[in-house]
Amino acid sequence: MSSTPNTSVDVIVVGAGFAGLYALHKFRSQGLSVRVFEGAPDVGGTWYFNRYPGARCDVESVDYCYSFSDELQQEWTWTEKYATQTEILAYITWVADKLDLRRDITFDTRVTGAVLDERTLRWTVTTDAQETVEARFLVMATGPLSAALTPDFKGLSNFRGEVYHTAHWPHAGVNFTGKRVAVIGTGSSGVQSIPIIADQAEQLYVFQRTPNYSVPAGNRPLTADEIADIKANYTQRRERSWRSGGGSPHVAHPKLTMEASPEERRAAFEKRWELGGVLFSKTFTDQMVSLEANDEARKFYEEKIRAVIDDPDLADLLIPDDHPIGTKRICTDSNYFQTFNRPNVTLISVRNTPIESIDDTGINTSAAHFEIDALVLATGFDALTGALAKVDIVGRGGQRLVEDWGDGPRTYLGLGTDGFPNLFLVSGPGAPAVLANMVLHAEAHVNWIADAITYLGDHGYSAIEPTADAVDGWIAECARRAEGTLFTKANSWYMGANVPGKPRTFMLFIGGFATYLDICNEVAAAGYKGFDLLKAP
Ligand code: FAD
Ligand code: NAP
Repeated sequence: MSSTPNTSVDVIVVGAGFAGLYALHKFRSQGLSVRVFEGAPDVGGTWYFNRYPGARCDVESVDYCYSFSDELQQEWTWTEKYATQTEILAYITWVADKLDLRRDITFDTRVTGAVLDERTLRWTVTTDAQETVEARFLVMATGPLSAALTPDFKGLSNFRGEVYHTAHWPHAGVNFTGKRVAVIGTGSSGVQSIPIIADQAEQLYVFQRTPNYSVPAGNRPLTADEIADIKANYTQRRERSWRSGGGSPHVAHPKLTMEASPEERRAAFEKRWELGGVLFSKTFTDQMVSLEANDEARKFYEEKIRAVIDDPDLADLLIPDDHPIGTKRICTDSNYFQTFNRPNVTLISVRNTPIESIDDTGINTSAAHFEIDALVLATGFDALTGALAKVDIVGRGGQRLVEDWGDGPRTYLGLGTDGFPNLFLVSGPGAPAVLANMVLHAEAHVNWIADAITYLGDHGYSAIEPTADAVDGWIAECARRAEGTLFTKANSWYMGANVPGKPRTFMLFIGGFATYLDICNEVAAAGYKGFDLLKAP
């Protein structure tokens, strides 16, 4: 193993999902030399790994794709309102081929460490293939939802049946026909996969800790006319998305919830319900701020869900009562609640009867033993900080990022942090990230970083680093905005609540996508206000 760098490039990008791929294309088009490292054998990130049955996007396909090239937009044709994982991965693969991206990506290789040379202000990156590469800029496109979480269930390793995590699904697929299956977890991944597993399995046990809000996706094939219309008006559609609160082109009802008459309110909720999915939480602009407004949405929701569940006692268990609607990400489903009307599906409330252990034949709760052939863990991710924490990033004075963030992530604009010059984060904490359409969000971050790199070059600087004051100010600003909403009232992964021991802090910028972009642009236009611009000797 060599301890001296064997390669030197302008930019190292970690990750080859939507964000890392666009970063490679963008930086390359600026004339920079780029090297991408990706732990997986191929491109796709989220869409490479999450192959569980029913996996789809919950932002409409026509919006959940790159906007930077009209050629790409016009050439690709989405077949469904919410594309399957297979179709999204095919799209990403197509883009990677079309832009000839693979030649600068090293696959099957994880970045394990990155150390700053304070004298040269350059990064030395090491990989699990024992390679060492040096670069001026380090861009962590490691994904907000890429570190899968397996809870520490007592005895899990003793189980003799099949075990699958939704985020590491076998490529060959899994056939549950004739099997007794348990799914633990009822977040978006569980909610999407449970109806399909129930169709196959002889018996399905669903272990639910917290009931979740889920709105029918209303998925359907896109017609040729719809596609033609969208393609003809893509520019305007994208403009609306860039100026929106969440990166998609839909606007909230023009009145506040309680300003609308009961009939008008109901009609607005009904319209959003028909639109399908996660956007239901944005029917009215005050829905995530006012408990009274939120409760109107919740009541409408409850009525809809109770209507499709046969057993009222089961409905009581399936309908959340511990957090306002939308404060955990609303799931998007196809026949989720109807699945519990089936004779081969049993709901087990982990709240009422906790999982105590797993043994060689199945799951033991405080009330019973469930004998199973296969166990599906739909237990989510160490979100936003999990993938970053797996890389030993060492900045000024030997300071480790993971220690620096011991009380919660510290960023300025979600783009960088003090003590770590020329380290950029994409779609991580301190940005809207998962609250927005993540493809546009990744484009916005990469474009901002690309502009900053150009600015440094044009003005004779070699590095950019947020000041500690700017970072502290941004953390306070994010917290202030979050406290003005209902989001802090839920034990969500936005708050780090799903990972034992993780600091409890709202990790995102809640002020809206367009507002956030305005702030980032103002900072750049003011000569990178809040950043120190540095010259290496
Ligand atoms: P990722 O796609 O996660 O890519 C990060 C890559 O970095 C991964 O391939 C990983 O292997 C690699 N990596 C990480 N650490 C290292 C390392 N140390 N060394 C080398 N490689 C590393 N968002 C939406 O906006 N709309 C949706 O509909 C939507 N649906 C989703 C569905 C699922 C099942 C999940 C899990 C997430 C979904 N998301 C959705 C969020 C989704 O993660 C983002 O939309 C987007 O795909 C993230 O792209 P990314 O490139 O930032 O990260
Ligand atoms: P998640 O939302 O975090 O859900 C994990 C589930 O596992 C929750 O029900 C959680 O219960 C449960 N769980 C975790 N630990 C447990 C334990 N020890 N015992 C019992 N239950 C436990 O994860 P996810 O479903 O993978 O989704 C994560 C995010 O990815 C989503 O919010 C979304 O942003 C994205 N995603 C999107 C889609 C889509 O529709 N396009 C699909 C999948 C994922 P608690 O709620 O009590 O913690």
